[in-house]
Amino acid sequence: MTVKAYGAYAGDKPLESMDIVRRIAGPHDVKIDIAYCGVCHSDIHQVRAEWAGTLFPCVPGHEIVGRVSAVGEHVSGFKEGDLVGVGCMVDSCQHCADCNEGLENYCDHMVPTYNGPTADAPGHTLGGYSQQIVVHERYVLRIRHNAAQLAAVAPLLCAGITTWSPLRHWKVGPGHKVGIVGIGGLGHMGIKLANAMGAHVVAFTTSESKRDAARALGAHEAVVSRNADELAAHAASLDFILNTVAAPHDLDAFLALLKRDGSMTLVGAPASPHPSPQVFNLIMKRRSLAGSMIGGIPETQEMLDFCAEHGIVSDIEMIRADEINDAYERMLKGDVKYRFVIDSASLAD
Ligand code: NAP
Ligand code: ZN
Repeated sequence: MTVKAYGAYAGDKPLESMDIVRRIAGPHDVKIDIAYCGVCHSDIHQVRAEWAGTLFPCVPGHEIVGRVSAVGEHVSGFKEGDLVGVGCMVDSCQHCADCNEGLENYCDHMVPTYNGPTADAPGHTLGGYSQQIVVHERYVLRIRHNAAQLAAVAPLLCAGITTWSPLRHWKVGPGHKVGIVGIGGLGHMGIKLANAMGAHVVAFTTSESKRDAARALGAHEAVVSRNADELAAHAASLDFILNTVAAPHDLDAFLALLKRDGSMTLVGAPASPHPSPQVFNLIMKRRSLAGSMIGGIPETQEMLDFCAEHGIVSDIEMIRADEINDAYERMLKGDVKYRFVIDSASLAD
């Protein structure tokens, strides 16, 4: 089946309209009419070949929401008409220790929603900037939000789970002072989720214009991280920091804000390395520096259900598919509050 998509033929080419082929739904597959797809900074890194290994043509998009339009004969969990989501992966080995623990995101054979190996044409997966997608039911999430909120739910499928997973893993909750660094798509969800978990949230932004906006999202304090005095006021006081910044920067400035036994988790994935942290910044207060990649399917469902229950969605700006190249330029300037979402209906025009 041929469907419309938006993608690029090379890393130095803009995205453009293209036709792609989706497989016929197999016995365990769910066919989804995509309603909206969020725009993640990882899409920019990959479609512009900033990370190694991008396969072209590249159709990005891993914040997918829509309605089920058909299911295979052995699908038990979904039926036609259901509101569903697909995040950053569409397959994994399904039997290793990671898969058995519901941490398919760490499986050595995890297949990303785009740019991963598949038997389908053209030999690598194609993502959600498209009209339809066909996905094994194990990797399909149920959406319990109101249908009217669907566009604003899309970013939960990556920005939501990528911040939820480390906040839960590091047991963030009441009594914790938590820093969120970089108030973009991921960071704004980090603020909302850490607030809902009961933590005292401090937002760290390079953008003066986001100081008040961060408070409106649920931050109890907001710091412009370019101001050394403002940073110093929080020295050795934070239990946990979630760092979402998409570019190399001085990690020591933030490590110095952790109290004894505090930890900073990096989720931002810049193409070139950070200047390395000073070892003494870690050993002097037994601090730790960690990383985290998206999240597993069960915890993604847990996050979606938590957000539905607590009325949490993303703050979005809706765009047409043919506005995507401009949207990327604005994201690189930090000029979006806080996530672009593509209206998939515009692909048909
Ligand atoms: P985004 O919406 O573009 O937000 C990134 C934010 O980082 C910016 O809004 C800005 O916030 C801050 N920033 C500060 N200096 C920057 C600079 N020189 N260049 C760019 N940003 C700068 O991006 P996102 O979608 O949240 O993604 C953030 C990073 O996480 C990306 O590297 C992405 O690839 C990565 N990611 C990782 C995972 C994972 O599993 N680990 C999953 C998804 C995305 P302020 O204006 O507040 O300073
Ligand atoms: Zn993403």
